Amino acid sequence: MNKFPRKRNVDADSRNGGRHSSAKKGLQNDGFEHRARKRFGQNFLHDQNVIQRIINAIHPQPTDHMVEIGPGQGALTRKLLANCGKLDAVELDRDLAAYLQQTLGEDPRFALHLGDVLKFDFSTLCEANGNKPRSLRVVGNLPYNISTPCMFHLLNYSHLIQDMTFMLQLEVVQRLAAQPGDEEFGRLGLMMQYYCEVEHLFDVPPGAFTPQPKVCSAIVRLTPHRELPVKVLDVRCLQDVVRVAFTQRRKTLKNSLRTLISEAELSKLSIDLGLRPENLSLADYAKISDSITRAAGTGSKAAEQEESYVE
Ligand code: SAM
Repeated sequence: MNKFPRKRNVDADSRNGGRHSSAKKGLQNDGFEHRARKRFGQNFLHDQNVIQRIINAIHPQPTDHMVEIGPGQGALTRKLLANCGKLDAVELDRDLAAYLQQTLGEDPRFALHLGDVLKFDFSTLCEANGNKPRSLRVVGNLPYNISTPCMFHLLNYSHLIQDMTFMLQLEVVQRLAAQPGDEEFGRLGLMMQYYCEVEHLFDVPPGAFTPQPKVCSAIVRLTPHRELPVKVLDVRCLQDVVRVAFTQRRKTLKNSLRTLISEAELSKLSIDLGLRPENLSLADYAKISDSITRAAGTGSKAAEQEESYVE
């Protein structure tokens, strides 16, 4: 991952091609022109009311070390930088990185990292403070095509993160925040709620962006639990149980989990076996997972393993 050089010429950098043919041009106040690239999930925020509402929700403080994923043309970046102590930004698009470096790079509190967030090692940002727990506040209007892998990549660094505030597709936020019994309740919500408190803050209409996306968006706040409220012996096993249960959503539990656990074992857990997967709580799934782990004798091995949250 490159840290972007402090002095860079935008024009020289903006010659690489690959622009999406139907992309819209956006013109900044300072004359910078950029065609949105669909392959980078570029939908730029232009609605000042929405931008201010997001900043108010984040409420950056002078002591905060913020990290922005996909700063784009800086719609959120400038307002964050005006209020926080330090801002690291990770951007994949060379042209945008060069533009931001040229316009914000003089500020010693700002650092731009050119590269793919999915490969970014967030622990490098905390080396100066000895990896102090919960020292990062992460934000981003995420490219929708990588939003789920991006959130799960960040969970590898959850001990270093105070909170994460993201703009996502509304449907994804609904799934993240869904509760047992909700139609949207499934793997994504269960696994994210295992690690984080999830808050659906507010919705954002397509008209707030250029170009306009086809779907509605929403702001979500994810706060990693200081202590996991539900803890399993082997998180991989929990992932398997949840995956198998929801692959066959219409089946009752005893049928869908047949390959993982016998009906006799399941019936010892005081869980209604006639329920559908969306009606069980995280605590119920944890009970099933631990029962399987104990039967397989893999609990201690799982506790030793370095966890990697790949959904
Ligand atoms: N923050 C800006 C805004 O709100 O107007 C831009 C948001 S736009 C939806 C997503 C941004 O993420 C773009 O700037 C895009 O170039 C960048 N991006 C896309 N894929 C990325 C990746 N894998 N790693 C880092 N940035 C990425």
